[in-house]
Amino acid sequence: MARTLARCNAHYERASRRLPLGVSSNYRFWGKSRTLYLDRARGPRLWDLDGNAYIDYRLGYGPTILGYAHPEVDEAARAGMEIGGVSALSTPYELEVAERIAGMVPAAERVRFANSGTEAVMASLRLARAHTGREAHLMLEGGFHGLFDAVLWRSERREVDGRVEYVVVPDSQGVPRRVGDLVHQVPLNDCQRLEDVFREHGDRLAAFLIELIQGNCCGIPSTREYVETARKLCDRYGVVMIVDEVKTGFRVARGGAQELLGVRADLCTFAKAMANGYPISAIAGRAEIMGKLGPEVPQGGTYAAHPVSLAAAAKTLEIIEKSDALERIESYGRRLWRGMDSILRDYGIPHSFSGHPSMGGIVLTASPPQSMRDWEDSDHELYNAIAANLNDLGILCEPDSCEPWFVSTAHDDACLAETLEKVELAVDAALEARERAARRA
Ligand code: PMP
Repeated sequence: MARTLARCNAHYERASRRLPLGVSSNYRFWGKSRTLYLDRARGPRLWDLDGNAYIDYRLGYGPTILGYAHPEVDEAARAGMEIGGVSALSTPYELEVAERIAGMVPAAERVRFANSGTEAVMASLRLARAHTGREAHLMLEGGFHGLFDAVLWRSERREVDGRVEYVVVPDSQGVPRRVGDLVHQVPLNDCQRLEDVFREHGDRLAAFLIELIQGNCCGIPSTREYVETARKLCDRYGVVMIVDEVKTGFRVARGGAQELLGVRADLCTFAKAMANGYPISAIAGRAEIMGKLGPEVPQGGTYAAHPVSLAAAAKTLEIIEKSDALERIESYGRRLWRGMDSILRDYGIPHSFSGHPSMGGIVLTASPPQSMRDWEDSDHELYNAIAANLNDLGILCEPDSCEPWFVSTAHDDACLAETLEKVELAVDAALEARERAARRA
């Protein structure tokens, strides 16, 4: 399972003296000896500085839905460049992309653009507070919505007097503790708990911020019953339902997870797949709430609605709307699951698949997780060992099972065959290592 990372390691040594952890996003740091630096990416593959080739299932945490360096999208981006740059004036691209979004997402009565998922969620939460005149919000355990104070909270498992309890704690230093007074969390798919929390806090909640498919917790999907309950409770208590579709949007269905699960958000957020990797995000929703944008709630910024990203978004969304791109990535994901299922079954490893095949979670538990709590009980040690072996063998998945496996239209039959062949090798080696360790113990 040899892979030379001499150049990556040497680059890390130099980079870490100037850039904290040697990277520009904490999630790109995989340890001193395993942090990768990219040389180039094309289609479904990328190459590191050492020339190691990988079939990529991370796709930048989702954006690259049509594969890297997609000719039509890149050509559109170059046309966007012809505008001449950032001018602090709007361009007609904005309306074009907003119309495309509205055509696919019924909830998107009005649309605004920003640069990142974080910015979009931040604006949507502020809008929800402005609309309701309330300050608190409810999130799901295991949800992720970006790097800002209001959402950098997680539920931590604790044993108190032999009982398991979950406590909401800050997910970063520097987050004011008092922000936590405004944050509530619930486990996904527990309708009773949701009703209880709304009964207790509903009148003070501005928003229920939810990923309908938990893209940062192995892709756990909401049940239809849960979504219906959530919608009903939000309506009853006047709480803004914000569906964060940063990962699911324009990927799991043209109308996102909302279409898949038959629900209409009050506000929703998009990013990632909407421009095949060019930096852009969108806040969309009910005209009444979005109408607060103006003197009452500011939104915008120097780089908002950058013409290059918008031009790329226009082309990407056109392809997603008009071609069979989404059907193809779903079918590939299903075949990947079938192949993995047969391998893991042969080895007698309890496993399940979670969420949507185009961004599927692979979890080492006997039945699909219903919430983060189930995911916590899966066999992380074995999964992480298999993932590390896969990385060594040229299959790039996240080192832990939090992150689903993302599929692009560039993944073809050859990728599938190579992936499954390597999954078998990776599983075999991980089990062998586990047995060796058990014998030594
Ligand atoms: N929401 C969700 C559901 C996400 O998955 C992410 C990023 N992984 C974000 C928000 C934040 O997006 P960004 O990294 O573009 O700020």
